[in-house]
Amino acid sequence: MTSPHDILVVAPTGADGPNIREALVQAGLPPRLCRSTADAAAGIQAGAEALIVTEEALAGGQHAVLAVALEAQPAWSDLPVLLVASNATLHQWATHSIRLLGDRANVTLIARPLQKVTLLAAVHAVLRARRRQYQIRDLLRENDALLNSLERRVEERTAKLQELVAELESFSYSVSHDLRAPLRVMAGYARVLLEDHGGALTPAVRDYVERIARAAERMDRLTRDVLAYTRLSRGEAVLEDVDLDRVLHELLEQYPELDASRAAIVVRFPLGRVRAHAPSMEQAIANLIGNALKFARQDVGTRIEVFTQPAGDRVRLVVQDNGVGIHPMHHEKIFRLFERVAGRDVPGTGIGLAIVKRAAERMGGTVGVHSVPGQGSQFWIELPKAA
Ligand code: ADP
Repeated sequence: MTSPHDILVVAPTGADGPNIREALVQAGLPPRLCRSTADAAAGIQAGAEALIVTEEALAGGQHAVLAVALEAQPAWSDLPVLLVASNATLHQWATHSIRLLGDRANVTLIARPLQKVTLLAAVHAVLRARRRQYQIRDLLRENDALLNSLERRVEERTAKLQELVAELESFSYSVSHDLRAPLRVMAGYARVLLEDHGGALTPAVRDYVERIARAAERMDRLTRDVLAYTRLSRGEAVLEDVDLDRVLHELLEQYPELDASRAAIVVRFPLGRVRAHAPSMEQAIANLIGNALKFARQDVGTRIEVFTQPAGDRVRLVVQDNGVGIHPMHHEKIFRLFERVAGRDVPGTGIGLAIVKRAAERMGGTVGVHSVPGQGSQFWIELPKAA
């Protein structure tokens, strides 16, 4: 039976085997005598403490199996090998042993005739070194176990967090959804009051009712945008080849406010095809064009251009305007939820660009902006080309 902490001895000829054994037993280090180098190789694999081998044991190609076992040692292991050779051949073995046993052989030469005291001194020295290696092995194992348990904990926590985020999103989705019905009732009745009974209202009351209507409409816009934003994280976006020309045509037809500004919007067809999720793409472009119209300058005619540019294996869709522009210090923050730069007089919720960013990221894309205050802005979405 091989035990991991054996001192292995391969000494098939003469009195070496019994002598070595006797010396080690007396020193309280009983060794295991191996029948062959193959037997010793199995012991090395099991993690033996040291190997004492005579030169005769390596003859006739017997070294090869040891060389393989030494080469296969784990990184922490540098098994000490004590090679017993006659005085006459000792010199040759100094270079021979590396050639026969390989680079990973950590060989100490011991001359024959064997001196018990020399042998024991050598064995004690190599065992000390070997025990340090075992300590390193144990530390490495502890580290591995720690890393594994850390990884497991990170995975568990990530899963819990994802669950929590999904729950929160589902909660905010249903709250936003349920808020819209009463809001529409408030806005609707306020409008009815103004339109059908306006004459009966004093100017102050009219003003109050108008405020109620405006606040309800604003709240409705906000919940609609929050819904659009959370919708982007619910369910998976299935990516497909999307024809951007078609998206633009449908968009301009579907959004009346965009169609009304048709003269100001120039689309440089053909835009090409990208790997995307069509509804998310439509929503993102609508938001960008909507912003370009909203943040137009009063002193020049509005001109909005939509075009694409190749960007390596990606396509960059650009929405460019000649509007008010954005100071560089705001370029990053405007993509965050509820971040607005525009004054309170400009309608908006600060969610539009967060939707654009989330939509792009969900499709494996990126967003960005180039803008010069007073001159205009270029917002872009970069996506992989269609297959
Ligand atoms: P909102 O339009 O509701 O304010 P967005 O998230 O769409 O929210 O935009 C955030 C801010 O970025 C806006 O408040 C505005 O200051 C700025 N912005 C966005 N698009 C443009 C644009 N095309 N030109 C100038 N400023 C813009």
